[in-house]
Parts: sequence; C-alpha cells; structure tokens
Amino acid sequence: MKKALITGIMGQDGAYLAKLLLDKGYKVSGLLARRSTPSNWRLKYLGIENEVELIEGDLTDLAFLIRAIKKSKPDEIYNLGAQSYVATSWEQPILTAQTTGVGVLNVLEAIRLTDTTIKFYQASTSEMFGLIQEPMQSEATPFHPRSPYGIAKLYGHWISVNYRESFNMFTCCGILFNHESPLRGIEFVTRKVTDAVARIKLGKQRELRLGNIDAQRDWGFAGDYVEAMWRMLQQSKPDDYVVATGQTTTVREMCRIAFDHVGLHAEDHVVIDEKLYRPAEVEILLGNPTKAKEKLGWSSKTSLEELVIMMVEADFMRVSKE
Ligand code: NAP
Ligand code: GDP
Repeated sequence: MKKALITGIMGQDGAYLAKLLLDKGYKVSGLLARRSTPSNWRLKYLGIENEVELIEGDLTDLAFLIRAIKKSKPDEIYNLGAQSYVATSWEQPILTAQTTGVGVLNVLEAIRLTDTTIKFYQASTSEMFGLIQEPMQSEATPFHPRSPYGIAKLYGHWISVNYRESFNMFTCCGILFNHESPLRGIEFVTRKVTDAVARIKLGKQRELRLGNIDAQRDWGFAGDYVEAMWRMLQQSKPDDYVVATGQTTTVREMCRIAFDHVGLHAEDHVVIDEKLYRPAEVEILLGNPTKAKEKLGWSSKTSLEELVIMMVEADFMRVSKE
C-alpha cells in the first residue's frame, strides 16, 4: 500500500487530495496545525474524517517534520500547508515568509535528513506571475510577484527546483492557477460572493462589499486540480507544470453568474469598497496548460459556470440550515 503525507490536509486542496488518494488505495496521513477549535469541517464534508491519520505539528518546526516523516513513512509528500491568503500577506508578511516560504525548506530538509527517495510535491502558484510578462503564462514565463505571499511562494518554488538539481531529489512544482469549490475559504472572492448570494436570497444580508471587480482570474475546480498534483508524482522524472483552464474571467462576470443563478441582479447588491483594494494588484492571470495536457494527460473538466452554480447551491443549503 502506498503512503502519502499531506501538509495542509485541513485546507481546501488537502481535503480533496486526501479523498482522491484514499480512493486510490493510499494510506493517508496529514499535518494538523494545532488550533484551539477543531478545523476538520472539510474532511467531514467529504466523509473522510475517520479515514486519515492526523499528526499534530507545524511547518515551521523542522524537528517535528522529521518525526512526522519517521512516523508516517510516506512514499509521497504533498506540501499544501501555507498562509495562503494574498491580502493577509501584507498584514503578516513575516509569518507568511516563515510558513509559505521557509516552511517549504523545512519539509525539503526533513526529507534530505531522513529518506531522499520520498517524492515531493510543492504547491506553487500563478501569483508568482503577478505583473504578467506574457499574455498567457506558461512554465517558461518569467515571474514578477506582487505580494509578500507571491514572493514567499517564489522562494518555495525555487528551493524545490534547487533541491532537485542539487540533490537529485524527486521534487515537482505545480504552478496552479486559482481553483475554488464549496470548500474554499470564505475570505477568497468566489466563496465570499457565493455565500453572500445565498444570504441575500434568503433575506439574511442586503449588500455585498467588494474591491477591484475588474480583476481577471483563470478559475478552475479544486476537485479537478488535485488529480494533476497526483499525476505529477507518478511520472518517471520530476518536473514543473502549469495547471489552469486556459480561460480568464472578471470578478464582475463571476458575480453576475452567481446572482443570475438565484434570479437576482448583481448590480442591485454589490457595493464597491475601496478599503478592499490591495496595495499592489494582480490585474489578470491566464494560464497555458498545454504541457500538463501533453505530459500528464490532464485537463480541467469543470466550466466556470458549473463551478459557480455548485458553490452557490452548496452555500444556499448551508445558510438555509443556520
Ligand atoms: P488553504 O485552504 O488555506 O489550506 C492551507 C492549509 O495550511 C490550512 O489547513 C492551514 O491551516 C494550513 N497551515 C497554515 N499554516 C500552517 C503551518 N504553519 N503549519 C501547518 N499547516 C499550516 O489553501 P488551499 O486553497 O487548500 O491551497 C493549498 C495550497 O496551494 C496552499 O499552499 C496555497 O497557497 C496553494 N495554492 C492555492 C491556490 C488556490 O487557488 N486555491 C492556487 C495556487 C496555489 P489553518 O487553516 O488551520 O491555518
Ligand atoms: P487571489 O488571486 O489568490 O488573490 O484570490 P482572491 O479570491 O482573494 O482574489 C481574486 C481577485 O479578486 C483579486 O484581484 C482581488 O483583488 C479581487 N477582489 C475584489 N474584491 C474582493 C474581495 O472582496 N475579496 C477578495 N478576496 N478578493 C477581491
């Protein structure tokens, strides 16, 4: 039986990836960053809260990571744990550097000190492209991150590439464009919108305050994207891949789809709040997933419309029961 260790298993991608690996017959262990209240609602949502082994500890603690590897003896490690919210990264840039950046180095060092045959996946991000240098971003596009988050991720990306080149370790970076689901954190714009649409429709909220709704993102479904992570680690050689849909949409249009689905008009409820603008914005992202398609046989299956409707309906069900 193959064994996997997932950091960030309590997050959106960690939960979907754990489900995928369990379905493939893996034994799945996950890092649980200690919190005073339980944070396993995503594992519960997918019905797998009793199927995974949870090991309590933090990405900033190298000694713990070594013990976690010795305990779980993984064939594959997926490093998904991070301070992952861009806006927070200006408020807590040092914490972001320590978890999202140096945390990657800690996992790599833990592998180097225990068992260098372990395959490693790093959750890189389209935020590394930031101020885009090409209209469609591929593995060859130069990076220009625009936030402390993007910069921390760029460190994580290059240190993973470096450990591959220096120590012949099997490290793969997935440069994933934005991906969403009913399990997305509520602070991200898609979930903020779909939750508000449900509340407004149910008469529990009147307006939705947003920042820059002209920003454009290449949004896919997280359930599709975790399959690409797994496929990267099944290749004979480690490599880096862009994972995206190849289409970009404004926040404004995403809102329209969500409000339309429940028979409401976005312009009647959306209020622009300049306090929600970011110190430096990533105006547009658009990924070129050709390499993932050709080498991994992977492509995005869920359209933005299907994704938004799935999220609105899940939020509607949840808010109706509150
Ligand atoms: P997420 O929902 O925010 O999950 C991240 C997880 O990491 C959370 O469970 C969090 O726990 C945990 N964590 C935070 N600090 C930690 C620490 N110091 N030690 C151990 N665990 C820690 O993020 P996601 O959307 O699933 O994304 C997964 C990964 O892919 C992240 O690295 C993210 O930056 C990256 N990524 C995401 C996207 C996207 O669109 N979703 C795109 C590209 C890359 P708490 O919640 O308890 O703090
Ligand atoms: P990001 O791409 O990782 O930063 O994902 P987000 O979902 O947080 O933001 C996507 C885009 O939506 C960014 O360009 C934000 O500036 C824009 N946006 C506009 N209004 C909001 C808002 O109220 N919350 C968030 N999170 N983003 C917003």
